Amino acid sequence: MAFTETCTKCDGTGLLRWGVIDRPDHKKSCWDCEGVGHKTFKTSPEDRALARARAQKKRDEALLARQEKRLAKQREITGGLTFAEKQVEREAQWAEEKAKAKDVPTGKITVSGTILKVDLKDTPFGSVWKMTVKDNNGFVVWGSIPSIDGRVANCAKGDTITFSATVTPSDKDPKFGFFKRPTKAVLTESTRENRIGILDPDPEPEEFIAPHKEWNLMEDRR
Ligand SMILES: [Zn+2]
Repeated sequence: MAFTETCTKCDGTGLLRWGVIDRPDHKKSCWDCEGVGHKTFKTSPEDRALARARAQKKRDEALLARQEKRLAKQREITGGLTFAEKQVEREAQWAEEKAKAKDVPTGKITVSGTILKVDLKDTPFGSVWKMTVKDNNGFVVWGSIPSIDGRVANCAKGDTITFSATVTPSDKDPKFGFFKRPTKAVLTESTRENRIGILDPDPEPEEFIAPHKEWNLMEDRR
């Protein structure tokens, strides 16, 4: 048994404006029904609609399965959360940490905390090693790496450091500031295996992305 249906592309006329020129009268034949105005199927329209629905369902299920697999992998990596959930958790932690952080004081203080980043900054006087330090009071300061025993301290991300300096808060963010003339530095190197110091002859590039703008630094305090 065959099922004949009016062609929906040409509404049964067999002609289409963007059809194929293959007729003696130079009109354009419908490309879908080949100019006859109807199409013949082995199965009923209902059966074909069902088959299409089943195929779509299968595709949807396969997509869901792939997504679920990806999320399961993420949960395995983070130990329970998807990357998106982990990100939300981190951001909440950062917000909480920042809320608890004290404002950067003004004047000569002792900074004591962890180095978040070291980078080389180009200045009119040459390249200068800078560091971003998260003080134990929560605020973050940025400035030149102090000298220890007459040479620039060989510090790295993750090291802890204590030094005296003159500190000024940023105009934009009271929890972020700049320090000048650091002295009396005491450095404790972290135990991190891949610790990369500034005097390392072959540093990993990602440790050395030089942020010239304060806002880059703010992003990096994570
Ligand atoms: Zn047609």
